[in-house]
Amino acid sequence: MDLAYTEAEEEFRGRLREWLAAVLPGLPPKPSPDDWPARRAYDTAWQRMLYDAGYAGLHWPADAGGRGATPTQHLIFLEETEKAGAPYVGANFVGLLHAGPTIAAEGTAEQRARWLPPVLRGDEIWCQGFSEPDAGSDLAALRTRAVRDGDDYVVSGQKIWTSHAEVADWCELLVRTDPGAPKHRGISWLAMPMDAPGITVRPLRTLAGSTEFAEVFLDEVRVPVRNRVGAENDGWRVTMVTLSFERGTAFVGEVVACRRTLDALAAEARRNGRWDDAVLRRRLGRLNAEFRALWRLTQWNVGESERTGGVPGIGGSVFKLRYSGVRQELYEAAAEVLGAEGAFDLDREWALDRLSSLSYTIAAGTSQIQRNIVAERILGLPKGR
Ligand SMILES: Cc1cc2nc3c(=O)[nH]c(=O)nc-3n(C[C@H](O)[C@H](O)[C@H](O)COP(=O)(O)OP(=O)(O)OC[C@H]3O[C@@H](n4cnc5c(N)ncnc54)[C@H](O)[C@@H]3O)c2cc1C
Repeated sequence: MDLAYTEAEEEFRGRLREWLAAVLPGLPPKPSPDDWPARRAYDTAWQRMLYDAGYAGLHWPADAGGRGATPTQHLIFLEETEKAGAPYVGANFVGLLHAGPTIAAEGTAEQRARWLPPVLRGDEIWCQGFSEPDAGSDLAALRTRAVRDGDDYVVSGQKIWTSHAEVADWCELLVRTDPGAPKHRGISWLAMPMDAPGITVRPLRTLAGSTEFAEVFLDEVRVPVRNRVGAENDGWRVTMVTLSFERGTAFVGEVVACRRTLDALAAEARRNGRWDDAVLRRRLGRLNAEFRALWRLTQWNVGESERTGGVPGIGGSVFKLRYSGVRQELYEAAAEVLGAEGAFDLDREWALDRLSSLSYTIAAGTSQIQRNIVAERILGLPKGR
């Protein structure tokens, strides 16, 4: 396993650093985390800047509108943008990091031409309509029905926890197209326009006070059959591709962000005298080692996916499991450094980040489910009953 960067990769890093140093000082301040329309505008404007500079969809194949860069260059991109404090993908998360890559891997030429360029340019935002009130971890239990009527599917049902639904243009939607088939076989993957008649979006408030996700009610929504990605009833296989991107690569940039937070925390501890506590120092040191190990694991996963054609493998579950736990430990350590007042002052970004870190062991597949996947598919242990 060779984790060193090549000369060409280091050259790429150097050019990117120069570009970031030139553009970041001129960016406007980030809007309030509560103001989703303003956040959408901010996130899409940043995406447009990346696009114009040739940094959008770096690792997407050239025939999907990307730059055809190696996954390692993408990793360098994530590392450098985070280190420089560049804006995070934000509202572009689903489109760029899992719906887009799924369409690039599984869509037809027409579908790629229709949906991928607007994602790269920051013109269109996607959300993910997978979870339902009784189908979260047991995703294949989903009940939203799609009945064929001529050239359309007529879709009725309910989705829940749909992040960015309020501001999205498209939804990667899982529907049941054959209610009589075994539950993993009767599912299809559709691209649903969020302005179609029959869609009601009802925002839900998170613990941190933001309305980042919503319930989505679907009442006889017409979705063209040509919007189906993959064959009818083959949606479970397409979903596995989406989930492998979601768990395998979508969060990796955040590891660098956590390392930045850890550095800031150590600086704060030195400033406020908490650094004298040897137990706390050891705790911060262990977290540092954890994040370094996670970055190495990411490099390994990416190296593997380079060899297997770009779709991340099952190693993503190991990453997701460990990352989401360590992220929570980071904010627990923050509470200790900042003391009760600092940690729970909701006007401070750290307090809000701490609250939102609680969702990481649930979002994108719970830790228990990742453990099941690791046990069954990596360790080869028997399936539970
Ligand atoms: C911040 C956030 C954003 C999200 N964004 C989206 C989104 O944009 N789109 C979307 O579709 N979904 C989204 N989700 C939903 C997320 O994918 C689900 O919450 C998650 O899959 C768990 O499903 P559930 O909430 O229905 O819990 P359940 O499936 O009801 O699980 C409850 C508990 O039981 C455990 N459990 C269940 N089955 C098993 C089993 N077989 N073995 C061991 N333990 C088990 C689970 O691990 C969990 O602890 C988001 C969630 C969060 C928190």
